[in-house]
Amino acid sequence: MTHKFRAGHVAIVGRPNVGKSTLLNHLIGQKLCITSEKPQTTQHAILGINTTDDFQIIYVDTPGIHKKAHHPINRQMNRAATGAMFDVDLVLFVVDSMQWTEDDEWVCQKLKNVTCPILAIVNKVDKISDKSLLFPHLTFLAAKCSFEKIIPMSARKDNDIRMLEHLLITFIPEAKQIFPSDQLTDRDERFFAAEIIREKLMRQLGQELPYATTIEIENFKDDNGLLRISAVIYVHKEGQKKIVIGEKGDRLKKIGTHARLDMEKMFEHKVFLQLWVKVINS
Ligand code: GDP
Ligand code: MG
Repeated sequence: MTHKFRAGHVAIVGRPNVGKSTLLNHLIGQKLCITSEKPQTTQHAILGINTTDDFQIIYVDTPGIHKKAHHPINRQMNRAATGAMFDVDLVLFVVDSMQWTEDDEWVCQKLKNVTCPILAIVNKVDKISDKSLLFPHLTFLAAKCSFEKIIPMSARKDNDIRMLEHLLITFIPEAKQIFPSDQLTDRDERFFAAEIIREKLMRQLGQELPYATTIEIENFKDDNGLLRISAVIYVHKEGQKKIVIGEKGDRLKKIGTHARLDMEKMFEHKVFLQLWVKVINS
């Protein structure tokens, strides 16, 4: 080999709906590999790993940086999350084209504590019809934080993704591969199943979602090609349970249906999903 292998961690941050998942899916493409590090060693949730002959990039989430903390537990988690951000090699801060909201501002403030390079991804520029408006917006962004680069792009465009990937690599240190190339165990699938449920919960509940909600996959079994998955959504109060379940179970049913469809796509199997909501006895 004439070149050196590179390996490292990249955090993808930004408020909901800016296109983080879309970006990630396109960055890891078919090389999707999900895993989860032990919580004792890191605060990161691994979203996906892209391993090629030349590099391994581990994309991570920084739980807590996405939401304003009113509750003390959230504040504590946010501190942990901001601390953990120092461990990554690069941060991708994603924003939605020309939009700038209070939540963007909040995430941006968090980034002030970050010592590693940050790239601002100005996503969804395909939505901007008058491109001349973009330049003043980029200037506005540049004043917000010391970004290494500001990249207007569209997470849906392959060319843009390839350009971004070339740029990303330059921030990744020379290092040995951290994870095996094809790691995908039963435990990892459980982790991902839980993440899918969490995403659907968030979509359904928005700000109503109690932040510290945990999801436990109780069962994950391949029954002759049918995946039987059962999961418990833990909440803290009886009232939260009612909210998650919804009128006549409507909300939970929706969460379940949407989660099942995503799981079937991801696992390429029919899925039978059972969801329960339980109140944690503290
Ligand atoms: P996340 O909440 O930050 O993970 O955002 P998602 O990846 O779920 O994307 C939110 C919405 O924006 C979805 O409907 C995406 O299809 C859409 N989206 C993402 N990237 C682009 C883009 O480059 N252009 C356009 N027009 N829409 C996009
Ligand atoms: Mg997402």
